[in-house]
Amino acid sequence: MRRLKQQLSVCIDRSLSNLPSRCLWCKQQAVHSQRNLCDQCYQMLPWNNRACPRCALPLSGPRTGHNCLPQNSALERLYAPLRYARPLDQWIPALKDSSNLNYLPLFHKLLCHALDPAWQYDLVVPIPLHWRRLLGRGFNQAELLARPVAKHLATPLASRCLKRNSARTNQKELKRAERLKNLHGAFSCRPLEGQRILLIDDVATTGATLQNAAQCLRRAGSGEVQALVLARTPPPEKS
Ligand SMILES: [Zn+2]
Ligand SMILES: [Zn+2]
Repeated sequence: MRRLKQQLSVCIDRSLSNLPSRCLWCKQQAVHSQRNLCDQCYQMLPWNNRACPRCALPLSGPRTGHNCLPQNSALERLYAPLRYARPLDQWIPALKDSSNLNYLPLFHKLLCHALDPAWQYDLVVPIPLHWRRLLGRGFNQAELLARPVAKHLATPLASRCLKRNSARTNQKELKRAERLKNLHGAFSCRPLEGQRILLIDDVATTGATLQNAAQCLRRAGSGEVQALVLARTPPPEKS
């Protein structure tokens, strides 16, 4: 397993140093070589500017009445620089399902850009994959996203802090209540001593995965838990 991880790491580093020079979206020349997106496309990304400051849910109207994090939530706060909309709904699956690493430098920039220099953490923890899924995919996208965040914050990356107990039913197909139930006991954690944690994942839909991970961390003795994801799924349209 360790050898496989080393080989993957070499493959990923090679892919990152061999990136296309054209804008990932419009396919014109990239102005910013580091993020591989031209200025115009960068502006057109689905920025999550009108969001709840606590749960990052994209809001179109006043802040009242949305499905926010519960009062007693183990997850203190959730940040998401983008809404899960076009083109993220194509780029993130391309990374996860087709191992397309072309988007990673951009994702790294977006996550690091979203960080507030005032935030203080003791550990950066990616949401883990179950080993069986990890073996199938070859990498954990949350870990790939967490690495530069940890480096940027000069905070240790704790990839093995949390463990996924079972490869349960695909969360995507479940409703919110079912998701929370499905995730009960989904994680286990090594003992902690009050460390403040920043959880990292690619997308938050209901936030159930992050809430369950935070609960597990708190039970193991962590301090405050916050989370940063690349994109937050907007609430369903009311009919
Ligand atoms: Zn462009
Ligand atoms: Zn909220």
